[in-house]
Amino acid sequence: MIYLDYQATTPLAPAAREAMMKWLDGPEGTSFGNPHSQHRMGRMAAAAVELARERVAALLPPGGTVIFTGSATEAINLAIRGSGRGGSIAVSSIEHAAVLDTVEDLGNGHVLKTDADGTCHPDQEWPSDTRLIAVMQVNNEIGTIQPMDKWLAVAGTQDKLLLCDAVQAAGKMPVAGADMIAISAHKMHGPKGIGALWVRDGLDLDPLITGGGQEQGLRSGTLSPALCAGFGAAAQLAAERMEEDTAHISALWDRARDMFDGWTLNGSAGHRWKGNLNIRRDGLDVARLMSECRDVMFSAGSACASGSGRPSHVLRAIGLSDEQAKSSIRLGFGRYTSMEQLEEAARSIIAAADSQG
Ligand code: PLP
Repeated sequence: MIYLDYQATTPLAPAAREAMMKWLDGPEGTSFGNPHSQHRMGRMAAAAVELARERVAALLPPGGTVIFTGSATEAINLAIRGSGRGGSIAVSSIEHAAVLDTVEDLGNGHVLKTDADGTCHPDQEWPSDTRLIAVMQVNNEIGTIQPMDKWLAVAGTQDKLLLCDAVQAAGKMPVAGADMIAISAHKMHGPKGIGALWVRDGLDLDPLITGGGQEQGLRSGTLSPALCAGFGAAAQLAAERMEEDTAHISALWDRARDMFDGWTLNGSAGHRWKGNLNIRRDGLDVARLMSECRDVMFSAGSACASGSGRPSHVLRAIGLSDEQAKSSIRLGFGRYTSMEQLEEAARSIIAAADSQG
């Protein structure tokens, strides 16, 4: 099997796995303590959590605090629901469902336009009572990078809060400044079940989850030292390997673009994370293609997360027709994808697509 679905999740880095194992101790061990206990075992676990927090923070801008959560979805909910009430929330039309559905639930959203390149620019209007703007750094479906510096400047000038979903950016590139930043371990070769919200110093949030008061009262519940340690190790490795990983992924991208000659790229070719290749071919039956290429793990560009078969809101937002969206596929590759695997997968997808005529 060849895994080309890096936007959905990434393989656990061996170093992250190793860092986690120690904290999964059984009764004979000394590393299963509750990080919130005052005794020695508790303090050992707490030290592991704090080391992980430092390593994760090193991927993020200075001047803020990392609050561990159960996922980026939870971090986004904490940011949106915890940062105030009333006023509108302006969100780019290509945000992840974690943002869009939360704002829809609150009933005060304003959707910002995105251009055909997959970029959401701040030179557009939003309601004057907007209190929060949410723009993602890298889109998960088409990989386009948003002009976060411009958004930060506009939000600052207009005294609005800025939330950046940096799930697909963190560990791959410097994360842009914002008031709140959401990230997820499993998108950067860490474990599933842990994310984080970075909160700018001085910004007060209301908790979503109340209880024991952990994570500065913002996210009660006992932390898992194993998940934190895995997240920390993955973050440290990502920081160390950022240049090397980027160069490798760039080489994979160039080769993939050559091989898929004649297919159309969805989203900007320049302003993008190159580990995301979302392409289409007129008339392609993607369901058939996926069933014929069962050994390649890739994603239909068109299906939304729930698998409802509805065309993707992102592809529609950049102006594709239903037909074009439905003839799109997303190939996601990264650190552990070899050139041979990429070529083999591409050959198999191209052969299956050619056989459709
Ligand atoms: N935001 C983006 C851009 C994502 O790609 C994802 C995951 O697909 C999420 C948020 C949600 O992350 P998590 O799985 O940690 O809840």
